[in-house]
Amino acid sequence: MPLPVSPEVLIVLGTRPEAIKLFPLIQRLQDHPRLRPVVVTTGQHKELVDYVLQEAGCEVAGDLGVGRPGLTLNQLSSSVIAGLDEFVTGRYGPPPERISGRVREDHYPAGCIVHGDTSSAAAAAVAAFHLRIPVLHVEAGLRTGTTLTPFPEELNRQLVARIASFHAAPTRANVQNLVREGVDIGRTFVTGNTGIDALRWAAAREVPYGRPELAWLEDDATSPVVTVTAHRRENWGAGIASIARSVHRLADAHPDVRFVVPVHPNPRVAQTVHDELGAVDAVTLTAPMEYHTFARLLARSTLVITDSGGIQEEAPALGVPVLVARTTTERTEGVEAGTLELVGTDADTIVDAATRVLTDPAAHAAFSRQPNPYGDGHAAERIVDAVEHLVFNSPVPHTSGPGFVRAQVLEWAGFRRTDAIEGPTFVREPTPVDHVPQDLDGVVIAPKSTVDPYDKGTE
Ligand code: UDP
Repeated sequence: MPLPVSPEVLIVLGTRPEAIKLFPLIQRLQDHPRLRPVVVTTGQHKELVDYVLQEAGCEVAGDLGVGRPGLTLNQLSSSVIAGLDEFVTGRYGPPPERISGRVREDHYPAGCIVHGDTSSAAAAAVAAFHLRIPVLHVEAGLRTGTTLTPFPEELNRQLVARIASFHAAPTRANVQNLVREGVDIGRTFVTGNTGIDALRWAAAREVPYGRPELAWLEDDATSPVVTVTAHRRENWGAGIASIARSVHRLADAHPDVRFVVPVHPNPRVAQTVHDELGAVDAVTLTAPMEYHTFARLLARSTLVITDSGGIQEEAPALGVPVLVARTTTERTEGVEAGTLELVGTDADTIVDAATRVLTDPAAHAAFSRQPNPYGDGHAAERIVDAVEHLVFNSPVPHTSGPGFVRAQVLEWAGFRRTDAIEGPTFVREPTPVDHVPQDLDGVVIAPKSTVDPYDKGTE
């Protein structure tokens, strides 16, 4: 029986960062002539997620309604598993037991994309595995190496890595982490971080700031702007106070410079910042900003002082130097590349480093001319090209790291290689739903392929 020619790719997301980092991928799949995205939200950060997806023009096919406050991790995980099961079986019928069709003609989803390290992503990966849908992991391979830190994210990343057939890793170092854990290098792909694609798109839209305290920014295209964010737990108290003091000193010393500080609502942060900076003319305090306007502010900035993780990846993508107000960072690639400088929270050190960047064009250029190790804004394009290659056997996409091997990905996903009359193809293995082997007699373990013999057979 002829089956649909536009395979659907499920994308499951729940939190705002997931929506931000997946919308570029959804946009590309929406524009793709042969693949169709089916976006499923879990309902966790419903309003924030809906806002980001709506702004990006992404359609949502289903919401699992897992938005009740106070859910435990186990309640959340089991609700996501049950909800996704219901959504998939409702839309596609039960998991295939005897389907054997070419990958691209299979009526069942071609894959399920999950992102990063949330418990909902891990739960969605488990559900997809049970439903025989190949899992594709975006932002794969980040590791601290300590299973309980951060909790539960580190283990979630490792769980998804065990399940995923295909791993889209932002950097080569991420691929190394995966290979160290036994993932075939042929199932990994260095793509850059889709967060950089998102940021560039959002910054270019120039969404109005829409706040009275930022009205001056709409008209002022010339004053140097320093954007400051600080809210990490380790900086609560003395650290935040010291960062705020350094901003006060910088404002006094550089009357031509304007400072914008989106203040985290946590009272332990907000009170300290308001006490130090509330009456300083050159400093604009504002509430946390919507992602699209914050991206615009970053693009307009001369310098960023922050303790945020994500901003350390984002600002350099826009050529903006970053002083990291922390003593350590897991973004070591940025420090090595020279796009970040670790300054800690000592006020003298921050003031000295900021003064150099604000007064010496060569010092500014030393940051802004470096390529951003976290991505070039084309990660979503690479991932969609990879999915297309996996599904249609189209030409192998260009990668900035080691290449990947279609046969390895498909075999891990449960497809079996055949040589059908129409040419080499993969068929989906029957699901052994009722069969529990009594012993291992007669079980043949096929050798893993190391090359893709079908690379040349493009459509
Ligand atoms: N961000 C935002 N509005 C703000 C400040 C930050 O949308 O006022 C975005 C920022 O662009 C980045 C993310 O929030 O994508 C970073 O959040 P945060 O610093 O809270 O977390 P971390 O990256 O440290 O986990």
